Amino acid sequence: MSRPRIRIAHLYDDLLNIYADRGNIAVLRGRCHARGIECEVRPVRLGDPFQPGDADIVYLGGGQDRDQRQVALELAGERGAAIAAHVAAGGVVLAVCGGYQLLGRGYTDASGTHQPGTGLFAADTVAGHGRLIGNVELDCHLPELPGVPATRVQLVGFENHAGRTTLDAGQEPLGRVVHGFGNDGTSGWEGARTGRAIGTYLHGPLLPRNPELADWLVAAALDHAGQPLDEPLAVLDDALEVAARERAAGRARAD
Ligand code: GLN
Repeated sequence: MSRPRIRIAHLYDDLLNIYADRGNIAVLRGRCHARGIECEVRPVRLGDPFQPGDADIVYLGGGQDRDQRQVALELAGERGAAIAAHVAAGGVVLAVCGGYQLLGRGYTDASGTHQPGTGLFAADTVAGHGRLIGNVELDCHLPELPGVPATRVQLVGFENHAGRTTLDAGQEPLGRVVHGFGNDGTSGWEGARTGRAIGTYLHGPLLPRNPELADWLVAAALDHAGQPLDEPLAVLDDALEVAARERAAGRARAD
């Protein structure tokens, strides 16, 4: 049997790259390699071709308002349509902060400029007065996948955003805020999830301290790649990851 393999398209790795969010890719790669799964990462920049079948995971990091402005128009056009088709076909997306904002209907940034989004998430984002900064703890439900039962997980991360994101009534959030601000500091929701597409404000980067989420993304990507798990992924030693998460949760509670 050929070795299992997943492909990650890292969108705008040159522009949406603040807060060490590329560390999320390193975690996906590392957790794949530890299980003998090949993981290919391809940067997709402005103007580069991207078709729905090209990747199993589409990744977008966070950005400054001015960098987001450069990619927004492309995302709102054909690129967004390709991402929507990818998700409709069971493809996986992880979008952090600025990337998350642009997968909604758009972001009115701190200068008042409206940056159009893809509309994948039924959400609008408007920059408010003052930034929402601090440690976050979430209660999150991840749906069942082949080889992975539905799970309820604690997620932790660090947020720093001017944008306030409002979800439509039917839009599923990523999780419920236990400590921190989340989407807007008032609704009690953080992030958004549509199928296997996740948008979140959590930096850190997110995945090193949240290995269950990383493995859920890998399992979903394998399924999309036509190699669904018939048993759970091999257990890894996550003692350091769990200790880091407990520390971050402690900080979120103390903030
Ligand atoms: N520029 C956006 C905001 O301030 C996103 C920030 C980020 O990606 N960290 O809301």
